Amino acid sequence: MAQLDAQALIEEVAAYLKPEDVAAVKVALEFSANAHKGQTRQSGDPYVSHPIAVARILTPLHMDAHAIVAALLHDVVEDTDISIDNVAEAFGKPVAEMVEGLSKLDKLQFETQEDAQAENFRKMLMAMARDVRVILIKLADRLHNMRTLEAVSPEKSQRIARETMDIYAPIANRLGLNTIFQELEDLCFMHLHPNRYSVLSKALKVARGNRREVVGKILDAIKLRLEENHIKAEVKGREKHLYGIYKKMQSKHLAFSQVLDIYGFRVLVEDVPSCYLALGALHGLYKPFPGKFKDYIAIPKANGYQSLHTAVFGPFGTPIEVQIRTVEMNKIAEAGVASHWLYKTSKTPINELHQKTHQWLQSLLESLSQSGDSVEFLEHLKIDLFPDEVYVFSPKGKIFALPRGATAVDFAYNVHTDIGNRCVAVKVNFELVPLRTELKNGDRVEIITAPHAHPNPAWLGYVVTSRARSEIRHSLKTMHLDESAKLGERLLGQALTSLGLKPQDVPEMCWERLLKETGAKSRQELFADIGLGRRLNMVIARQLARVGEMTGQESNSSSGVVTILGNEGMAIQFAKCCRPIPGDPIIGVIKSGQGIVVHTHDCPSLRKGRSGTEEWLDVAWDKNINKLFDVSIKLIVANQRGVLAKVAASIADAESNIENVHFSSEGEYTALYFTLQVNNRLHLANVLRNLRRISEVVRITRVKSIPA
Ligand code: MN
Repeated sequence: MAQLDAQALIEEVAAYLKPEDVAAVKVALEFSANAHKGQTRQSGDPYVSHPIAVARILTPLHMDAHAIVAALLHDVVEDTDISIDNVAEAFGKPVAEMVEGLSKLDKLQFETQEDAQAENFRKMLMAMARDVRVILIKLADRLHNMRTLEAVSPEKSQRIARETMDIYAPIANRLGLNTIFQELEDLCFMHLHPNRYSVLSKALKVARGNRREVVGKILDAIKLRLEENHIKAEVKGREKHLYGIYKKMQSKHLAFSQVLDIYGFRVLVEDVPSCYLALGALHGLYKPFPGKFKDYIAIPKANGYQSLHTAVFGPFGTPIEVQIRTVEMNKIAEAGVASHWLYKTSKTPINELHQKTHQWLQSLLESLSQSGDSVEFLEHLKIDLFPDEVYVFSPKGKIFALPRGATAVDFAYNVHTDIGNRCVAVKVNFELVPLRTELKNGDRVEIITAPHAHPNPAWLGYVVTSRARSEIRHSLKTMHLDESAKLGERLLGQALTSLGLKPQDVPEMCWERLLKETGAKSRQELFADIGLGRRLNMVIARQLARVGEMTGQESNSSSGVVTILGNEGMAIQFAKCCRPIPGDPIIGVIKSGQGIVVHTHDCPSLRKGRSGTEEWLDVAWDKNINKLFDVSIKLIVANQRGVLAKVAASIADAESNIENVHFSSEGEYTALYFTLQVNNRLHLANVLRNLRRISEVVRITRVKSIPA
């Protein structure tokens, strides 16, 4: 049995593949048969009959040799002791990559039936597969499993049929693989609703028998009318698939006798104008149903499908459905994305891009690459099938869709606010990784929480979802008070020192009097008020000195200057407009209720935005700062290949991190905007010196006026 199938496979590939490719398929056949030796399927057939059948589903699509070989080997890594390295050694890297992709997809199992889950799961499958050939092999694998589902236990067959209906059939449809799509749906229907399936298929058989004569007459009439109009065409009767009819009955609440278009016609013509001519001729022959005409030629479906659809009143008022399209469109209608292989012409060779992208992704790439030198940037920015989203699993198998760039912290807040607020560590695919780790498609993410943990303000630097951001902010507000109190205590201490007083020498009685005078409930609240800028440190210090009738000598040493360490948390913020770094002359602006915002002396927004409610405060950098600061620079570079890579390497060389980059093209030149992390001005100077050595770099400026 398997022997005969193997022979048939060789003959099929020999019809379209080169002799050396056919030889490779033969080697793969033997390799697979040896690997699966002794294994049987549930039906009792030798196991190798399955991979052979999968490969034979792909030959009518004229899939290339690599894909056929991968199909033959698709189960060896999962089910035998052959390793992926063995496959790579014997058949090369492209085949090994596909087999590995297939083994990975094999491990995914769809558990819940919620619609949103199904949609995410489909997208995740497609995104994980990367190479569209992997999806095609996976669909062929599933189709053969569905064809042989009788051998499997009822519970398992129900689960597989459900999963196929929810996940795999829609993928086949999305890729335009019409033949595979319809067979999958009919097989699922048969297993999920055996009674409805058998009743409907019997009714359909009878109806088709009864109408055979009428159908023949209509076919002849259409052919004749087209001939009279000198339109070269091929006219065919067309049977709709069973599940398609069933869906129509369900959605329109029809009885079977009311489903009129169980038989349709298809007219294939040579070119697009002939489509519309044929439509005119047909509407002259039979009256069209109002509102039933659809022009998918002018507006193709998302999967590339093109055709004219119309419904007309046939003889005796029988409604009939007609599809009109060119031969070319028909190929795409039947084989979809696979028509790339099936009908490749010498004019459009199949290159890696075709293989690794889907049609709609390609159109995306084309529209992007039309704007200047962006192709190079696309090489550096990772492009996926779904460029905006990643799909990850919780430990329980629930799928979460997150925006690209989302981190473990985003995931935690997406699961639940409490998980986010209490998270301390994360395991991705069973390995401990930093919380800021960017998640990838298919990752299994397990958040580790601790009961008394709190959000860290640093998280705000890398979360990308607005939910995580607002939850972190909300939770920090309460902690905010603590930090502000600490800062306030420091500020007051400095003010007292400048008055020649030591904070620890202030008697308890003075504090009590001060609280009474100011109306503050506690010393903590008073400190927090100072930290938040609600009260001025100098004013309170003088008040404190007065109530205790204490006098010290006004000391002149660094009087009143607040030093900035950079680790004060929310109480001291660095202005986003000018992004000060240690070494810059700075000034603090006390914002009531928000603490101190530090600007550079020359910040333009500072000069513009001065209002009566703000107090300025003399501040200086502390000598012992050990923290990285964000700084923005703008580079004008000549458009040349590899320039971005050179710039990035030079920045890394100077031991600075790139936090963010965006660009805009201006003719021959491109402006690159980087946000970098540096220790101080000296460090920044080193980075800039490195960058000036790159010949393509025309100009470098530090950006200090980013609109807030
Ligand atoms: Mn399989």
